[in-house]
Amino acid sequence: MKEEHIEYLKEAIGQERVITDLEDKICLGYDSTRLEYMPDVIIRVENSCQISQVLKFANEYKIPVTPRGAATGLSGGCLPVHGGISLIMLEMNKILNVNEVDLLVEAEAGAITIDIDKAANKYGLFYPPDPGSLKTSTIGGNIAENAGGLRGLKYGVTKDYVNSLELVLPTGEIINTGAITVKSVSGYNLVDLVVGSEGTLAIVTKATLGLLPVPKARASMLANFTDMSLAAGSVRDIVAAGVITATLEFLDNVTINAIEDYLNVGLDRTIGAMLLIEVDGYQGAVDAEAEIVKNVCKKNNCTDFHLAKSDEERDRLWSARRAALSSLARVRPSTILEDATVPRSRIVELVEAINHIAVKYGLNIGTFGHAGDGNLHPTILTDLRNKEEGKKVEKAIEDIFVKTIELGGTLSGEHGIGLTKAKFLKLEVSEDAYKLMKNIKKTFDPNNILNPGKLFLS
Ligand SMILES: Cc1cc2nc3c(=O)[nH]c(=O)nc-3n(C[C@H](O)[C@H](O)[C@H](O)COP(=O)(O)OP(=O)(O)OC[C@H]3O[C@@H](n4cnc5c(N)ncnc54)[C@H](O)[C@@H]3O)c2cc1C
Repeated sequence: MKEEHIEYLKEAIGQERVITDLEDKICLGYDSTRLEYMPDVIIRVENSCQISQVLKFANEYKIPVTPRGAATGLSGGCLPVHGGISLIMLEMNKILNVNEVDLLVEAEAGAITIDIDKAANKYGLFYPPDPGSLKTSTIGGNIAENAGGLRGLKYGVTKDYVNSLELVLPTGEIINTGAITVKSVSGYNLVDLVVGSEGTLAIVTKATLGLLPVPKARASMLANFTDMSLAAGSVRDIVAAGVITATLEFLDNVTINAIEDYLNVGLDRTIGAMLLIEVDGYQGAVDAEAEIVKNVCKKNNCTDFHLAKSDEERDRLWSARRAALSSLARVRPSTILEDATVPRSRIVELVEAINHIAVKYGLNIGTFGHAGDGNLHPTILTDLRNKEEGKKVEKAIEDIFVKTIELGGTLSGEHGIGLTKAKFLKLEVSEDAYKLMKNIKKTFDPNNILNPGKLFLS
């Protein structure tokens, strides 16, 4: 970026908000993929008008702008691959209003996900999407990635809760779209187009989100199995028995051992697979559903079934699950986490294929994920400084994606295509659909300044 452009931005937005120190740029050159791309300049914004000013200027001078939330993204979405401006959203973090009658919360895009849930809790309500990163990630990042979470099976994902948005377009206009009513069919659904668009169509500045009443009761259960197919059989049979659990999470032996090495919470290191299950609702229904879940797991020969007896025990179980990725990340210097998602009925085939691929390339892969949603996170534990191993990792990833598509699945259940999966998008999306997507991008962003280098190869 030219020095005069930076000077203009300092003048327009404020000296203290426009940062060019090398140390800051190095620190903000990473996200959770651990790839590295430095911006030319960092701008910390605190309102939509500043963003509009930045985008109008950037559009005129064709300067790339990449929005950045908490950088917990796992597909490289907030990395400024073409330099330019890294737009920091974290100071726009106000929770503006909770409406307990319409069951809505309005928040700025930089609000942390768990803070939105906590604000709703004060009214006996909750915000259902609960990504594993909820203590850190921003709602803007969640909307951009259409984040899922542990409660996805029963409660859906971020898109199911976004009613309306305030957006700043790449050309600088500020628009409001969507409605705060339960129903609305006025024109094209721009909200749904922007949710999951990975910061490539518009900057989200404010969102009105749906809430639900906190369930009256819940029960958390753990079931151990000697192998994955028995665990997957239980997933299938629980749903077939008419129980839609709030969560239905799967952990394999590699992941269980990594968690034990890290947290020592008493998980059984010898088992092949574990399910963590939660049902919620009214007490009578919870008791009845927990009984059905227990019977199904026993029928599928679980070696141990345990119902958490206190909130502390429940929290311990779920914090173990939430630590799955951090635990695996400690095993080797590099961690490549994928996001393959298949119809629930094909999970066993995907897990078997992943195990086969691990053996084929001599790699250590731990797999965990949202089994109820068919969304698995095969996590390759490796050392990318070793070039030979790096090549094997690339081949293994491609094999996993090819198999996923073959099973009727999708490349990404929740982490997005971003930078890391752009080269695979055409495995899933037809040539015509790809062209249409690029044309949509062009309509929003004629000069390709907003988060360029993501989703599409060129
Ligand atoms: C330990 C761990 C657990 C995780 N668990 C889950 C999980 O269970 N489910 C899940 O879905 N994901 C999970 N993730 C991935 C990640 O947390 C989500 O993708 C999250 O939504 C990213 O939010 P963020 O604020 O960190 O966004 P960032 O990483 O900063 O950015 C992500 C993308 O959003 C764009 N963006 C950010 N803010 C805005 C904005 N205001 N307007 C427009 N675009 C914007 C960025 O440009 C980028 O493309 C996990 C990550 C980690 C590290």
